[in-house]
Amino acid sequence: MNASIIPHARLHVTAAISMVPTSCKPASVTLIEQVNVRTINYTAGHRTCQGCESAQIMKLMAKAAGPRTIVLGATGCMYVANTSYYATPWGVPWMHTQLGSAGSGALGVAAALRAQMRKGTMKDEPINVIAFCGDGGGADMGLNAISTTMTHPDYNLLILLYDNETYANTDIQVSGSSPWGANTSFSTPGKVKRIMHHRWKKNVAGLMLAGHPTCKYVGTISTSYPLQAMNNIRKALSIGGPTFIHCLNPCPKGWDFDPVLSFELGELAVNTGIWPLYEVECCKLTLYGKTEAIAKGRMKRLPVRDYLLKQGRFAHFTDEDIAFFQSKVDEMWEKWLVPGVIPLHKEI
Ligand code: SF4
Ligand code: MG
Repeated sequence: MNASIIPHARLHVTAAISMVPTSCKPASVTLIEQVNVRTINYTAGHRTCQGCESAQIMKLMAKAAGPRTIVLGATGCMYVANTSYYATPWGVPWMHTQLGSAGSGALGVAAALRAQMRKGTMKDEPINVIAFCGDGGGADMGLNAISTTMTHPDYNLLILLYDNETYANTDIQVSGSSPWGANTSFSTPGKVKRIMHHRWKKNVAGLMLAGHPTCKYVGTISTSYPLQAMNNIRKALSIGGPTFIHCLNPCPKGWDFDPVLSFELGELAVNTGIWPLYEVECCKLTLYGKTEAIAKGRMKRLPVRDYLLKQGRFAHFTDEDIAFFQSKVDEMWEKWLVPGVIPLHKEI
């Protein structure tokens, strides 16, 4: 063995030990046992598209967090469609924050609550602070503010990135989170050039967990697995410090599919291995649900073709394009240090 090469297993253990935030204990929470998404915290009154899974995660999030919660919404679909003139579904205090400000907005609110409780001008009690942002606001424009917020361990807050894989609110422009080759209003396939979007989707949750060693909770969720999603949100809100959750949300308008398929597409994203489900709590990584079954060999990944061809945004794909997409997902599962999480190749 070449002495300069760190064995794979040792690299993993060393990283885990050195990164554990001081005084991090896994969250102790009452887990939700049934999905009953009726809640007065997020109710009728929004104007999102039929089959919108981004609205679904808002509802699950509001239910999981409960009434002692303040929500901040960065500009995006869930701001615009949720607060149209004189209509809102929010039953908890809610405020708009600018497109790139989910991180700084949440940090400011958490700091203000802390200051008021310290001065005795309000009761000292746990209040959840959640800022949500879309992929435009979280994976692109607001990444800086979220990253800075993740380095402030003294403030309790959750950033929830709902990812519909485009700037959907302003007419489906490509974002850093859009999948390779997708047809968006900035990457429309033409006769001469079929594939106009050549970048691979940004790994935002991986970025958060690898880059912010004092952050106690980072996770990925899907609205097609709602019970797990709600419980992950509860854990993130209870563990202390700034936390981050990335949720994939099928979007009938932007992805161009029949709204009845929303739930199925969320499942297919997981079952094809495109969207791995995991959580990192006190630096302990757990793959969960179907992702764990795939990783442990109990289940075979479905071909990406099953997912791609149900969506109009990939209707221009040839067999060659699908094969390329499949090869990239295979690479993620076969070559990455941790499938779907850490993109370092195992050989190093
Ligand atoms: Fe939801 Fe997509 Fe419609 Fe936005 S464009 S409201 S994310 S379905
Ligand atoms: Mg978006």
